[in-house]
Amino acid sequence: MAIERTFSMIKPDATKRNITGKIISKFEDAGLRIVAQKRVHWNKEQAGEFYAVHKERPFYGELVDFMISGPIVMQVLEGEDAVAANRKIMGATNPEDADAGTIRKEFAESLEANSVHGSDSPENAALEIAMCFDESEIVG
Ligand code: ADP
Ligand code: MG
Repeated sequence: MAIERTFSMIKPDATKRNITGKIISKFEDAGLRIVAQKRVHWNKEQAGEFYAVHKERPFYGELVDFMISGPIVMQVLEGEDAVAANRKIMGATNPEDADAGTIRKEFAESLEANSVHGSDSPENAALEIAMCFDESEIVG
């Protein structure tokens, strides 16, 4: 296993409920380190660009509106097999399908408002990190 970096976001449903610390603890308790972090409030263009991969999906418009409904916390997580480890800590997309102890099982409100985003492959992790952070903002 290799030390890897992945991109993570805490979504507006979670910043609204003031539970960012509880979510961040899940990453740290599992051994991932936060090597970059910032809180931002996206505009429609930024959210639309980030989720452009889902442009053809029926939920795209609502997802973009949800992602600009409040601030988000973006972070770069580092650790062994970080991409897969983060997806495991997050749990399934639909909280109803998520395993016990995962972030989405414990905190998500719905399929859309599911508290966290995480890159789904090392390739997408590199793209998402580059899209949202300058190299100088990442401090390992
Ligand atoms: P994941 O975030 O687990 O990688 P996807 O990449 O498939 O899941 O979807 C991106 C995000 O779009 C999800 O996290 C969720 O917020 C939203 N989403 C996915 N499927 C639906 C759906 N059927 N209806 C509404 N929102 C959805
Ligand atoms: Mg995804």
